Amino acid sequence: MRLTTALLLPTLAPGFVAHNGAPQRPQFDRPAVMRGTPILASIGPPKIIICGAPASGKGTQCELLKEEYGVVHLSTGDMLRAAVAQGTEVGLAAKGYMESGKLVPDEVIIGIVKDRLAESDCKQSGWLLDGFPRTEAQALALKAAGIEPTSVLYLDVPDEMLIERVVGRRTDPVTCKIYHMKYFPPEDDEIAARLTQRADDTEEKCRVRLKAFHEHMGAVEKCYASLIAKTDGTKKKEEVFAELQKCIGDK
Ligand code: ADP
Repeated sequence: MRLTTALLLPTLAPGFVAHNGAPQRPQFDRPAVMRGTPILASIGPPKIIICGAPASGKGTQCELLKEEYGVVHLSTGDMLRAAVAQGTEVGLAAKGYMESGKLVPDEVIIGIVKDRLAESDCKQSGWLLDGFPRTEAQALALKAAGIEPTSVLYLDVPDEMLIERVVGRRTDPVTCKIYHMKYFPPEDDEIAARLTQRADDTEEKCRVRLKAFHEHMGAVEKCYASLIAKTDGTKKKEEVFAELQKCIGDK
């Protein structure tokens, strides 16, 4: 299933339908990095939620989406890891949950996300929420705050493939590039020697994370039933990206 521009129509101002009757894609203040069609209407910047299990490719696709649409990328996993590294109150509250692969409590994460979305860069450029909402309570909190996405993307990948991706995943702390020891190995021994593995990227912890994902995703899907677009996340990254752009209604 994919979202077509038709589904975005209710949010368009009257009159923004082409002469041939085809709906036009929504328009917003497009940053220089954006390519594409002319500006026809202004309904604000893209507000995108991307959902998917651990290692479903959210991080890779977010890099591409960020570049294409100029939106602010907010990864709650990254935000929480930064909080843990800095030893903030949120970090201290989240640390134990994250280390065991469990979700951090809703009350720890909801406030941070709402505050961040209220900042001017998100309002101006739009946003790409990666890893949030992950529970029904989180989705309902966004709704209650009047925060509605323009697209909800879902990367679908079978569990066994996810586990294989997770256990082979490594990060280069110098370039932040993500490798996979089997499918995308480091270019040379020097890089190989400095690669790090996320503490929760073991098979055991990945299974805990997957269990949490499956327990909660159904409720999140229901909250966005009219908007959510599932994409096959097992394909090559360029193909997945092309599919996501169609879901957003851009191509
Ligand atoms: P992944 O999706 O690959 O498990 P993330 O980097 O998105 O990894 O998140 C890492 C960890 O951070 C999660 O296992 C969880 O403990 C915590 N976390 C991130 N986002 C949320 C969220 N929305 N709600 C609760 N916990 C979260």
